[in-house]
Amino acid sequence: MHDPADLDTDLSLRDVVAALESLYPLESAADWDRVGLVAGDLDQPVRRILFALDPTLAVIDDARGWGADLLVTHHPLLLRGVHSVATSSAKGASVTALVRAGVALWVGHTNADVADPGVSTVLADALGLRDQRPLSVEGDQAPGRVGELSSPVSLAEFADVVATALPATAGGIRVSGDPDAMVSTVAVMGGSGDDRFDDVRASGADVFVTADLRHHPVLEAREEARGGPPYLVDAGHWATESLWLQSGRERLLSALGEAPGATRVETRVSTIRTEPWTFVVGANAARDDRVAPETGGVS
Ligand SMILES: [Zn+2]
Repeated sequence: MHDPADLDTDLSLRDVVAALESLYPLESAADWDRVGLVAGDLDQPVRRILFALDPTLAVIDDARGWGADLLVTHHPLLLRGVHSVATSSAKGASVTALVRAGVALWVGHTNADVADPGVSTVLADALGLRDQRPLSVEGDQAPGRVGELSSPVSLAEFADVVATALPATAGGIRVSGDPDAMVSTVAVMGGSGDDRFDDVRASGADVFVTADLRHHPVLEAREEARGGPPYLVDAGHWATESLWLQSGRERLLSALGEAPGATRVETRVSTIRTEPWTFVVGANAARDDRVAPETGGVS
């Protein structure tokens, strides 16, 4: 059956997609999500694979310039309905650029969030959390992680641990809580986690590391805590999720280890930062108020 020449053929996109979906099954994605293969011909050869958090125009340029055959991103390019892929919109320009350059796009989003190792486990590992367990359980999925620091530290020291573990961002890290309060049990959720406060309270975590925290959910959570734990750390969406890229790259390479042609595949994580913020001014302008305000004694 096999033509000897086949032994020298490259990996096909079909092979790589199968490997990705063995690691991050599409069925484990949330119902609203749009994951998996977005562009590409399953029979096209794959020699170079670029990983990035977001399929922005700059990332697609990076993929084209490097000669990538496949771009793997965490965030979807097309989450909502699209009626045109003309270059007059950024989404259309992105699709057109991918197709013209022959760069396939595969997305691992909520299916990568709930994987183990996945986005939150990689974040928990980076913070050195021991005795890890799921933050919440939804059916057979377990988004978020909870674990223990090797020894209790102050909230201020813990914020420095987070800053050291994660790539630097324009926005830095925001913390809500008494800098001198001691913390040892840590909950994490890569990306947006302000819908998880009930799970965080139930977990007994002293501090919750996530991102995209908004005024009202945060204020209400802090009111519920009466100034005590769980304290909150907003470490940025891009920073909390970007650590996953290296893990995904390494896991894909090992999953491809058995596949013919795998030795010729080149992979790298894009150096383009897709954090949308550019700079901040006035941070800590209210430094005298840095300690969380007292909450009232109303029962
Ligand atoms: Zn995200």
